[in-house]
Amino acid sequence: MEDLTNIGRIKELMERYGFSFSKALGQNFLINPSVCPKIAELGNAGKGFGVIEIGTGFGTLTAELAKRADKVVAVELDSRLMPVLEETLAEYDNVSVINADVMKTDLRAVIEDNFAGLETAVCANLPYYITSPIIMYLLESRLPIQSITVMVQKEAGQRLCAKMGTRESSAVTAAVNYYAVPKMLFSVSRGSFMPPPNVDSCVIRLDVRKEPPIKVKDEKFLFRVIRGAFSQRRKNIVNSLSSALGDMDISKENISAAAADAGISLSARAEQLTLEDYGRLADRLI
Ligand code: SAM
Repeated sequence: MEDLTNIGRIKELMERYGFSFSKALGQNFLINPSVCPKIAELGNAGKGFGVIEIGTGFGTLTAELAKRADKVVAVELDSRLMPVLEETLAEYDNVSVINADVMKTDLRAVIEDNFAGLETAVCANLPYYITSPIIMYLLESRLPIQSITVMVQKEAGQRLCAKMGTRESSAVTAAVNYYAVPKMLFSVSRGSFMPPPNVDSCVIRLDVRKEPPIKVKDEKFLFRVIRGAFSQRRKNIVNSLSSALGDMDISKENISAAAADAGISLSARAEQLTLEDYGRLADRLI
């Protein structure tokens, strides 16, 4: 069986295929042998599951997923990796690789075409330059996914898993909590990658909710209010929302009245509100 975390093997593959790491594509490959099995185990890769992987690199995590899950579909943007993967994943007949940008891939069709009768999970060591867009794409598309288990930059992980109403929270925290239950799983040091990134990392899991925890009149408007409130997080929400919603003809007086009616202090800042607070506020503002 291949050991794709072995530095000698990686160097040999790089030389033979003339491959060099692309910083722009966030190519930091895992060389710590304990990490990929852990992501696969904690990420629901198992019998009865089809797993979507985003960004294969040389296939280190892909192989661990293929050993455990019924099927794996991996989406990798870098076409230089395709011949390498043919070699490194040759022993697995339950893996297919799509050479495409995940943001332009119809993942619903991928699931329907490949995972009939199976549950779906997403597992990935994400390219850090598009962590949030990928996570939001997965969540907002309302795909039939059970969980999303991903390696992200440590700070991003802390923000994604922050509790609403705390200083670490942000607009993305609110969105994640709306669609999923986030959990910090474990930390990964920068030395676990080749080449090592400038930051430490962590693995988080988002267990996707079947229903959002709050019901609002207009979901789009809810997120507009949340983004607006966090756009000037040092200001109180009345001030930040009156500039963010300026184009909607909602006066400062209306915002103050809606906040008071929703039981929210007029001096509260974005990070002090819970998802329920935002729901009540958005419903009164619309
Ligand atoms: N899974 C491998 C590992 O853990 O060693 C590689 C992870 S590396 C952090 C991220 C991978 O995502 C790279 O292989 C990169 O080429 C790929 N990638 C970058 N942008 C992508 C995109 N938009 N769509 C799909 N894959 C992408």
